[in-house]
Amino acid sequence: IVLLKGKTAVISGGAGARGIGFATAKTFAAQGARVAILDLDAAGAAKAAAELGPEHVGIGCDVTDKADCARAIGEVLAATGQIDILINNAGITQAIKVWDIDPESWARIQDVNLKGVLYLSQAVMPHMRERKAGAIACMSSVSAQRGGGILGGAHYSAAKAGVLGLAKAMARELGADGIRVNCVTPGLIQTDINAGKISDDARVKILENIPLNRLGVPQDVANIFLFLASDLSAYVTGAVIDVNGGMLIH
Ligand code: NAD
Repeated sequence: IVLLKGKTAVISGGAGARGIGFATAKTFAAQGARVAILDLDAAGAAKAAAELGPEHVGIGCDVTDKADCARAIGEVLAATGQIDILINNAGITQAIKVWDIDPESWARIQDVNLKGVLYLSQAVMPHMRERKAGAIACMSSVSAQRGGGILGGAHYSAAKAGVLGLAKAMARELGADGIRVNCVTPGLIQTDINAGKISDDARVKILENIPLNRLGVPQDVANIFLFLASDLSAYVTGAVIDVNGGMLIH
């Protein structure tokens, strides 16, 4: 069965060929969706969309800028006429100790990972509320649940924990309009965000604590986003789905 036939999906942070966002875009396109990739890297977004096929669009967007989110969503609507799905995937991390977090680092990590989820969600709300339909899925992290401890700092854990609260509150407020909001909390997924940052020794130690005995790949997360974006999850809202190989069982 094709799960997203006739649907249009906006995916933030989908420019990187080895990232979770692009894997999600590819998966959605294969399931019949028309995809709009939004990324700070405008050229990368356009290239990624072109790789998926001519009906897909790639648009530059800084999710930390509310006006830019509104502009980008306006461009998507002008091109596609509808948005059924929003995947808030854009994010950045920084591996520093809590005592080294300065105001600029704190602001940058909160802005992209947390404020960006609010602004891009707000940008699709008028359209989704008018149509009384929509599925929004947000990228959190196991770091939010266990307090970091792999690569991100405390400011990253705080931002990703904030995403859980924001998404649950949005789920509560938007349910009456037929809009579902859910989160994923991935463990360690092999992408550019951590490439080259894990030594062989560290990898062995990490694997000791992963019952499924492997690191995650972008497709593992893309498959869960597919579930949350499709009607298979029609009665699921405010949920958090772990995608961590059992690294955290709770
Ligand atoms: P990635 O670096 O490939 O993807 C992040 C994307 O976000 C990049 O394309 C980047 O250009 C984009 N981006 C950054 N700032 C932006 C901004 N201001 N506006 C718009 N786009 C912006 O890495 P990834 O691992 O695929 O990360 C995707 C998401 O998954 C992130 O939110 C990350 O925190 C989260 N995550 C990753 C892991 C992991 O182990 N890889 C685990 C848990 C959560």
